[in-house]
Amino acid sequence: MNPYDRNFQETTFAEEAARFDAADPLAPLRAEFLRPVAADGRPILHFAGHSLGLQPRQAREAVLEVLDDWATLGVEGHFAARRPWLSYHELLTEATARLVGAQAEEVVVMNTLSVNVHLMMVSFYRPTPKRFRILIEGGAFPSDRYAVASQAQFHGFDPELAIQELTPRPGETTLRDEDILATIARDGEQIALILLGNCNYLTGQRFDMAAITRAGHAQGCHVGFDLAHGAGNLLLNLHDDGPDFAVWCNYKYLNAGPGGLGGVFVHRRHLGRGDIPRFAGWWGHDKASRFQMGPHFQPMPTAEAWQLSNPPILALAALRASMALFDAAGMPALTQKAAWLTDFLYRQLLTLPAGAVTLMTPTEPHRRGTMLTIRVPGQADQLVAFLQRNGAEVDLRRPDIVRIAPVPLYTSAGDVAALGVLLRAFWGTDA
Ligand SMILES: *Cc1c(COP(=O)(O)O)cnc(C)c1O
Repeated sequence: MNPYDRNFQETTFAEEAARFDAADPLAPLRAEFLRPVAADGRPILHFAGHSLGLQPRQAREAVLEVLDDWATLGVEGHFAARRPWLSYHELLTEATARLVGAQAEEVVVMNTLSVNVHLMMVSFYRPTPKRFRILIEGGAFPSDRYAVASQAQFHGFDPELAIQELTPRPGETTLRDEDILATIARDGEQIALILLGNCNYLTGQRFDMAAITRAGHAQGCHVGFDLAHGAGNLLLNLHDDGPDFAVWCNYKYLNAGPGGLGGVFVHRRHLGRGDIPRFAGWWGHDKASRFQMGPHFQPMPTAEAWQLSNPPILALAALRASMALFDAAGMPALTQKAAWLTDFLYRQLLTLPAGAVTLMTPTEPHRRGTMLTIRVPGQADQLVAFLQRNGAEVDLRRPDIVRIAPVPLYTSAGDVAALGVLLRAFWGTDA
């Protein structure tokens, strides 16, 4: 039996959930995570993995290993640690490449997301008097907006003129794919950089990266994606889709822990180019001659050329624990399970009284990831407080937006069914 097949014949959600979980090959991964305990002593139902993922059990051991090696080896740990610090970041490279559908040379784990947005814009936002616009989503994540505005200013342009926003049609909550492509076709000659989130952090809308990239490149634009809500959530093919760069954080779906390190993708076509402007640091210098400490920067022929500093090993260690789980499961299996769980969550929402909630996320599975965003007019605060009192963690964006993500690594169908029971109880329609 394929547990992801929607045609179960069970009469109740609970039975359906139990059947799904019993047949779910990824179910054992749930035990690899630590979760907070609710007031009644039970582990919480965690639906906020799009905000901060749970702690992998192995994270502590991975971090302690670094601390112990530092204690016993001191500076020699750079070379003699069980996993030498000099090359520690490389332990993440292959798994990260598989995670986002890239070649190993195209990815590096470094810095944090907003820093990486800036570093990528130094290289790929090259405005001229005739082509200086940056195309972003209306209501983009504030940090992304601040970053692009300050980059435009840095180049001497008025952000009001430089930033072009994509907005939904009147009365609609998400963008239409055809409208995005039409905007690029119409205004592309004035657009230096297209920078979109995927998925959109608020609505959970997924964009067609391949089509947007093709349309942008046809107009001579650079194309980048902020995958804060995509990495570890969507099945990605960055190399084949062909954007010039992508950036993401690893602490949301990827469970790297608070403030965890970010990821960067630079497409192969840009690697080893001498004509790309870049802010440089010694960790981007060719490994073979880095410690000759010469005055002239010789970039790595990989995405590592964009590294500045020697990386924080403790943070990399925590991420390594989570990436091992992702790599073992694989994104095809994870996204297949996520699609089922998200649909199951959607079916819970359908049982609520008419008008209680409205879904902002597109209903078509290929236009969303794991997260569903609902509007709860007038009752969002009460709903989230009610759920919290009853041991379920979701995420509130005041005044009325609630985001719920049944992430497949550690969420069971039983968790989603339990959330459904709470939702129905809140509206007094307990089924
Ligand atoms: C979470 C998120 C950020 C956070 O940026 P940091 O630099 O990691 O603090 C930025 N942009 C988007 C779209 C996000 O979802």
